Parts: sequence; structure tokens; C-alpha cells
Amino acid sequence: MIDTKKLTIEEAAEMMKKGEMTSVDLVSACLQKIEEKNKELNVFLEVFSDALEQAKKADEMIKNGKGTKLTGIPLAIKDNILITGRKVSSGSKMLENYVATYDAFVIKKLKAEGVVFIGRVNMDEFAMGSSTENSAYGPTRNPIDSSRVPGGSSGGSAAAVASGMALGALGSDTGGSIRQPASFCGIVGMKPTYGAVSRSGLTAMSSSLDQIGPFAKTSQDAKIILECILGKDKMDSTSIELSPTPGVGKKIGVPRDFLKEGVDAEVLQNFEETLTKLKNKGYEIKDVVMPYLKYSLPVYYIIMPAEVSTNLSRLDGVRYGLREDGNSVFDVFKKSRSKGFGAETRRRIILGTYVLSHGYYDAYYNQAWKLRRAITKEYEDIFKDVDFVMTPTAPTTAFKFGDKKDPLQMYLEDIFTVSANIAGLPSISIPSGFSSNGLPFAVEFTGRTSSDLSLFDIEKDLRDNI
Ligand code: GLN
Repeated sequence: MIDTKKLTIEEAAEMMKKGEMTSVDLVSACLQKIEEKNKELNVFLEVFSDALEQAKKADEMIKNGKGTKLTGIPLAIKDNILITGRKVSSGSKMLENYVATYDAFVIKKLKAEGVVFIGRVNMDEFAMGSSTENSAYGPTRNPIDSSRVPGGSSGGSAAAVASGMALGALGSDTGGSIRQPASFCGIVGMKPTYGAVSRSGLTAMSSSLDQIGPFAKTSQDAKIILECILGKDKMDSTSIELSPTPGVGKKIGVPRDFLKEGVDAEVLQNFEETLTKLKNKGYEIKDVVMPYLKYSLPVYYIIMPAEVSTNLSRLDGVRYGLREDGNSVFDVFKKSRSKGFGAETRRRIILGTYVLSHGYYDAYYNQAWKLRRAITKEYEDIFKDVDFVMTPTAPTTAFKFGDKKDPLQMYLEDIFTVSANIAGLPSISIPSGFSSNGLPFAVEFTGRTSSDLSLFDIEKDLRDNI
């Protein structure tokens, strides 16, 4: 029996290379897990009917000596990343029947390596949320405790990997949507430097913040996925080639003042214990003062909805999406958008329209951009002294369904994740143990621009210790 809950990508690749297992075996084992668990957990919105066909092709590649570490590995894809000829709904009724007409850049890269796309997985509508409760297709449940959320918005991606339905996954992270669900499900999730991974073929939420990134059980697995999807793409004008960073050291900055408010006591305790473990492994720990960090959340919740309101304006029942008939064009827009979008999406469109409107633009949007620059500069200055900034990934462990009904309470979940998106920096969430009731803890490391690959080395030091 293949234990897909334990098996890593590295191990699977090795076994397939040696002929001890085929991709068909592996994909069958994942499909079996999906069969057993998907009804309860609601992870996959669609399991691709040709998954085994893809696996057969991958086995051919391996047999012909053309295999790489990713050949034949089953990955789950967030429902906002385009694969030609397949549905991609972004967790929304608005795009329920939308079929992609081209491959996202990251999909092209993975296809070239013979990855098996096993299906598309659930998410908060248009990637807005921290719990996957905002999906139009019902919430996803956390595989560790199904009375709790898996985090969001990429809850489906995290749950797929944690439950062994796939060996890795792609998600998108605009303000924490890879790192926070990775934290809640006890796996690794990483957001790359802005531009390092092309956004071509990703349904846009907030274009100056969005990045695609990997989920996996270990950092080394996540690194294998990231290395494949990196690279400059002419279809994304913000795309960059990662410049090689000089050897990154082992100095960690801890913004203590920022950790005081609203963080669960057990999360803080685990954070301190993790710091001690890192110290014992030769890391130098230093308290740092970052006074602008506390503005990250308000800045995010102005810039993000502003961009959401413009990006989603194309979904009007005429150019794209669900269409309701009406008496006039305006009536068509109004009815289609009212029916197609869920409550959270509408809330953010209204908020975004407000902060961009005449009279408020200077008071909110422009101020937020000034602070965005100040936060970015603050990180630049800190990185003259330390190599990483470390915080918990989220202020809580996985919470129960309905616990954060107040949107502001939900937004507070993003307190430690949004600043990396605001400053465009690479950031990783790494598991750091379990609470007394068996829920995963995680810590987050944010590094200098382009230092993406160095973030994957920390986990090895930590894992030996847990
Ligand atoms: N939880 C954040 C939000 O609701 C982040 C979402 C994301 O990264 N896509 O906006």
C-alpha cells in the first residue's frame, strides 16, 4: 500500500526512477484517498477524468529516461489557475462554466515535466478569505479536525496535500492564502518574491500583490515545485528572473512589539520554543523594531479591494461570466453581478470602489501607497542587519466553522502574512509542532527580495528538532 499521506515527492520520484512504483500506482492511491475522503472534506471541485491517462504518459517518460523529479507526481491545482480546456471557476458561481482557453505559465512549465494534474481544488471565492468558507461550492474541511477550517483562501490546496489526495499543490497568495492554510493543515507553503513566478493564467484578485506558489509536506518538496515554475515570462510584464543572492546567513530578526496584540497564548509559547530550537541549531536571534508593520493590515485592506474592484469589473455578464437578462445593459450588469458574486466579494468591490472614488482617493488609496513604500523601506533597512524576519504564520491555530463571522475578525487572521505581499518579499510557512488538542502550529520566515531558495533550508534545521 502506498501511504500518500506520508510519501514525499522526493521519495516518490526516487521510487519511480528505480522502478519500485509507477505513476499509475501513485495516482491510483491518491484517487483512492479522494474517493474515501472527498465527500466529507469537500477538497476537490473536480477530479480530472484523464488523471490515469496523464500518469501513463508520465510512466512512458520515465521509462525513456526523460523523467525529472516531478514526472508522474500528482498535484492539485487551485481553481483559479488556468489549464487549457478545463473548467476554472475561482470558487465562484460567476465563472461556474468558464473553460480556460490557454495554459497558465506555471501549468506549461509543469506539463513539460510530466506532472499529473489530478484535479482542481476548492478556494474562497476569487481568493478572498482566510477559511475557505466563502466558496460558492461549500466550505472545505480541515483533514486534521473536520470541525475546523483548513484556512484560506487556498484551503483546498492545503487540505489535498495534508490528506494525501495529492503529493503537492499550487495555490495563490495575495495576503497569506498559501502560508495561512499551510499553517492550519500542518504542511509547508511558500509565497515567492513578487514577479518570480508569472501571473499569466492566474485569475487576478489584486495584481500588485498576487503570487502563485507551492504547497508540500516538506520544504525540499516545495522547493522542487518552485524551481520548476520560476522564470521570466513575456506574458507578465512584472515577471522577473530571480537574481542570485549571495550566501544567506543565519540571523533572524524578531519584531517583538508586533507580536503582542491578538495572538493566542499557545501560539506565542510555541513561537518562543521554536526560537530556542533555532538558537540551538546555530541561528542568531535578534529583536528588531519595525514600527510600520502595524499598518500592514489597514494598507492591505485598502490596496487589495481597490484592485479587486477594478479586476472584477470585467465580470459583468457580457464579457465574461454568468448572465442574467435585464431591461437595459445596466440592468444586465446589476442582475448578473448580484447573482454571480457572493457576499464577501460584493463587500470588497464596494470597499474598493469607495476608496478609489473622487474625494476619498487621496484620503485612503494614496495614503495607503505612501505607507506601502514605508513598509517596503523598513524591510530593506532591516535586511541590512538580519537575514530573515520571523513571526508566527497566524495568530491562531485552525478555528471552528462560523467562529469568525465578523469580517474584521477574519481579516485579523492575516496580520502576519500581508506585509510580505505589500513589500513583494518571499515568505514561507513551516510547521513547528502541535497544540495540546492536536492542531498544527507554524512559524513564518520572510527574506530579502530574491532570497527565495534560502527559505527552504530552515525547515531541515527545525524538523530534526521537533
Ligand atoms: N486572507 C486574505 C484575504 O482575505 C488573503 C487572501 C489571499 O491571499 N488570496 O484577502
